Amino acid sequence: MRVEILGSAAGGGFPQWNCNCRNCRWLRAGTLLAKGRTQTQVAVSNDGRVWFLLNASPDLRLQIECTPVLHPRHGSRDSPIAGVLLTGADIDQIAGLLSLREVQPFEIYCTPSLRRILQEDNSMFGMLNRVPQQVRWTEIQTGGKFALSTFSDANSGICCEVFSLGSRYPAYVSSKRISTLKPEEASLGVMLTASSGGRLAYLPAVPAINASLPQYLDTTDLVLFDGTFWDNDELARFHGGGATALEMGHVPVSGADGSMRALAGVRHPRKVFVHINNTNPMLDESSSERAEARAAGWEIAEDGWQFEL
Ligand SMILES: [Zn+2]
Repeated sequence: MRVEILGSAAGGGFPQWNCNCRNCRWLRAGTLLAKGRTQTQVAVSNDGRVWFLLNASPDLRLQIECTPVLHPRHGSRDSPIAGVLLTGADIDQIAGLLSLREVQPFEIYCTPSLRRILQEDNSMFGMLNRVPQQVRWTEIQTGGKFALSTFSDANSGICCEVFSLGSRYPAYVSSKRISTLKPEEASLGVMLTASSGGRLAYLPAVPAINASLPQYLDTTDLVLFDGTFWDNDELARFHGGGATALEMGHVPVSGADGSMRALAGVRHPRKVFVHINNTNPMLDESSSERAEARAAGWEIAEDGWQFEL
């Protein structure tokens, strides 16, 4: 299975348009040892020809153009992108769907709750179903197992398991609507198994790490994990108040309850942080935080990274 990281930043990207934090300011000035990043986007393929996107970032159009395997190959209209698997309905997970509206057939896999939010409450997404034979929505169940398939029902060779990671719906979803949705369908983790046996775990938004997760992740070859915030008070410190990492649904990287410590026993897979917020000090390649994460066996994802599992 090929895995491509098209984008590795949290919502807003790095730098973020209206952010003047140390990281963003110094990156713009050229004085930070760091790389700019687009918003988190991953693409996977069993055979290198048929590709599936994990979520659809607001930067998707540019990310596709920067990734030759995702370009059209034949005819007047074509795309190697066979489908999109949604793990949540945050703006930075779904906005890119609007960039895929040009009458191209593909599959969208999402929970029934996410489908209702997008199709019933947000009429703009109707552009994905403007004509027959455009996008097909396939509802997936948490705890379920299914093959990722193309619009013409060809099995891609990738088996997908999804599990609930959280019950937070995005702020744009009304409380009235949320009362009709299942909490466990708000945010998913994904386990993909290729025909080669290679296994990828994708967990871009993790509110808490339960006791069984480390053992589960140790059965994989690659873990792409929530690296949004270095510590719980990061945003509040930079912006003089506001929500903590945990209040925003992201377990921080460092600290006694952080992901580095909780997943220290996960030794088999490569462990890579994705969805890194622009305020996170581990983006600075000369920082002690970066060195600490590397010493703990973690890599810090960059746009353009590729893996073969
Ligand atoms: Zn910033």
